[in-house]
Amino acid sequence: MSLKAATIPLHEDEVIEGIRRWVTIESPTYDASGIEAVLDEVEKDFEGLPVTFDRRPGVDGYAGILKVSTAEPSNEKPILVLTHMDTVHPKGTLTGRLPFRRDGDKLFGPGLYDMKGGAYLAVAGYRALIRAGVTPARPVTFLFTPDEEVGSPTSRAAIEEEARKAAYVLVTEPARDGGRIVTARKGVGRFHLVTHGRPAHAGARHQDGRSAIREMAHQILAVEGMTDYARGITTTVGLVKGGSAANVTPETCTAEIDLRVPDPAVGKEMVDRILGLKPVDPDVTVRVEGDINRPAYPKTTMIVDMLERAQAVARSIGFDLQDCPMTGGGSDGNFTAALGVPTLDGLGIDGAGAHTLDEHGLVSSILPRARLLAGLMETLR
Ligand SMILES: [Zn+2]
Repeated sequence: MSLKAATIPLHEDEVIEGIRRWVTIESPTYDASGIEAVLDEVEKDFEGLPVTFDRRPGVDGYAGILKVSTAEPSNEKPILVLTHMDTVHPKGTLTGRLPFRRDGDKLFGPGLYDMKGGAYLAVAGYRALIRAGVTPARPVTFLFTPDEEVGSPTSRAAIEEEARKAAYVLVTEPARDGGRIVTARKGVGRFHLVTHGRPAHAGARHQDGRSAIREMAHQILAVEGMTDYARGITTTVGLVKGGSAANVTPETCTAEIDLRVPDPAVGKEMVDRILGLKPVDPDVTVRVEGDINRPAYPKTTMIVDMLERAQAVARSIGFDLQDCPMTGGGSDGNFTAALGVPTLDGLGIDGAGAHTLDEHGLVSSILPRARLLAGLMETLR
């Protein structure tokens, strides 16, 4: 393959400076103004390129969505580059325990790895292609969203709308385990479980009480007992709240359940099982609500084909590209893959420590992966 993206001018220092600009504007999901300020920077990085901007206002207190489309008229379905601009780190992390800094090959900062680093690589790669006079194989649509870290409540519809129009989706979530990309993700379900019993004085009227916490203990064991590693199913009760005082039989207890499933059929089976939970104590009620939030993203034959094309691009650039086994972590790639649109995820910067104070990207991965993203835009016909 004669790949122009392998040799287009791309300068590490310029890319690091761009990442620095984006990372040093803090943008936790709930800080709409922070995210809007990052989107302003994103627009600046596209200045002078043949693109049009569609900036949509935020809803429900979240920041808005920025769509950047290449402007050449074309009947071809576009390549969708999917990126979230929110981070999990609260405001103050940058001036506190996770300042932007470089230590050897590591670039630290809140959201640098997940996923502003990868987001910037896609923009830098596209810009370098255009400046070198290379026309992408198809139109490119960049979508920058504000709420991935909380399940994409206000951006899912826009993501699915753009995915339906697209031929391919490239997700700039971080690479993992030494630069591996993601070609399959489990589906994610969330459930809210409430037990409701009968309060009583824990000393004087103990026999009258029906404990919501005791019932919840049974339910927790039932839910966690649904985990089946061999089938790729996990269930976790990650939050429990109940009772009002140590000397009162608890009237209510609530629990939040996380479910991960390998495919839609298992997803349906598990949703039915969880929604069908029954009380052990007939005097206590059990109420469950919830569903699959992110559908499973299986590695289809179309995705295998797309992976092989990405591997050929990587070889032309000079590195070996592998994927990782199906991951339990969800992303917006789940939405696009579930629509049957071939999706490669984890194309962003390599590094480690997502969502922690050790979050960092690797400088050595910047140029190869910016070229990989550019090469995919160049060649995905
Ligand atoms: Zn992410």
